[in-house]
Amino acid sequence: MFCDNQPCPELFGEMEMVKSQSACTRRYLSSSELDGLPEGESFWIRARVQQSRVKGNTVFLVLRLQGVTVQAALFKSDSVTKDMIRFCGSIPRESVVDVQGGKVAATVTSCKVTTYEVHVQRIYCVSRAAPALPLLLEDAARPSEARDNVSVEQRADADSEQREVVVNLETRLNERVLDLRSPSHNSIMRIQSHVGQAFRNFLAARGFVEIHTPKLQGGSSCEGGAAVFPLDYFGSKAWLAQSPQLHKQMAVMSGFERVMEVGPVFRAESSHTSRHLCEFVGLDFEMEISESYAEAMDIVEGFVVTLLEELYHSQPLSSHVDEVAKQYPCKRLRCRHEAVDLLNDRGCTNEDGSKDLSTQLERLLGEIVAEKHETDFFFITDFPSGVRPFYSMPSSSDPSSSNSFDAYLRGQEICSGAQRIHDSSLLVESLKSRGIDPSSMQPYINSFKYGGSPHAGAGLGLERLTMTILGLDNIRLASMFPRDPKRLSP
Ligand code: ATP
Repeated sequence: MFCDNQPCPELFGEMEMVKSQSACTRRYLSSSELDGLPEGESFWIRARVQQSRVKGNTVFLVLRLQGVTVQAALFKSDSVTKDMIRFCGSIPRESVVDVQGGKVAATVTSCKVTTYEVHVQRIYCVSRAAPALPLLLEDAARPSEARDNVSVEQRADADSEQREVVVNLETRLNERVLDLRSPSHNSIMRIQSHVGQAFRNFLAARGFVEIHTPKLQGGSSCEGGAAVFPLDYFGSKAWLAQSPQLHKQMAVMSGFERVMEVGPVFRAESSHTSRHLCEFVGLDFEMEISESYAEAMDIVEGFVVTLLEELYHSQPLSSHVDEVAKQYPCKRLRCRHEAVDLLNDRGCTNEDGSKDLSTQLERLLGEIVAEKHETDFFFITDFPSGVRPFYSMPSSSDPSSSNSFDAYLRGQEICSGAQRIHDSSLLVESLKSRGIDPSSMQPYINSFKYGGSPHAGAGLGLERLTMTILGLDNIRLASMFPRDPKRLSP
């Protein structure tokens, strides 16, 4: 391995495989440090080669570091030999290189850095990529609709005909590691990361304690009505948790007045929809309330408003939102501080007679609210008890209705919440009325026997929320390695 304190045999070449041979003294600049560096100073960067173009005695490389592209150039001179030019021109795309160079003012149109380029003094290939990539980043950066799977050969044909290739969703997800290197997909995941952070920060600042509930569960599997993934637990039946619901309530009963959890949720959703995954990240909270589940709605609203504020008005988040919009154009959300609170019309039914809102009805409602109230965020409250889980508190004025709410963004459900039953007798009654044997849930029921405090809570899906904010048409794009009925890899 070449180090700055060791003599370097050549100005270019293959680097010995990094195997922690030494604690190297070389310092690599990040893209933002590079931006701030004055011209004339020599520096090292480690980057990927996004493209290389040889033009006679010159090579232009597009280097990418931390998602930022910068042009690097080599001009034949006494130190830059023809061999060095040839070496640079033959480095396969996506290879990792170490470059020593200097900044020179230039007008560049093909990179994110437009005001300077890097004149290369030394270049070493740290890790060589396979010459044929299953997808090219520029292809992955085009809108993905309406094209068939593109094979390496088809791509080569398209290249020679100079046709624009579009990568479809299947290919993207199969080659996710490369796909995620493309600017908008990389930005989606950085935004997703912030959504989770923002949830933690917002709730922690309001006294919520972060908890971690078990994902391996025994007892009854009927808590939320969603299908579960069964598994063998040392000869007994067990399930992967379909939500942290029961344990987060038990945590509140354990003397933690306000709790939150960011963790995996498993649903054996057999339907193939663009908004459901079999494994997603739940953003959950549960809190004691003084009087009403509206206190939990305030938390949801405050979080969403704060999150949008951060995404739209702080850097680098706002640039990531813009980057995604280049490939997946969508309007920024309007979200006033007073979200519209709609009382669900209890007679409202779908065509099939069910009383929950269908996806179409949700969308329609979203359009009406957006037009009338100029906001893309609203709540629907007081759902019929029959469409909510057994632990939802019935309304005091109408027992067939529940103290529940859903929150919607762009007409898409992003959150479900409710006041929960905190009285063990009422809980047993509710279970029995649904044909569930209370003995299968005894530890849960017992937790309300010794002074159950009134409480409410809600759950949001990290990927659903990210997808909706960014206006993506498929939740899989908002999941790093999605799991659906047909996909268990990569
Ligand atoms: P939906 O009506 O969309 O199927 P749900 O009523 O089953 O959702 P809950 O169980 O209350 O939803 O989950 C709370 C939140 O978790 C939802 O509002 C949504 O954001 C997210 N969510 C639920 N199911 C999924 C899923 N299969 N994949 C991704 N996110 C989900």
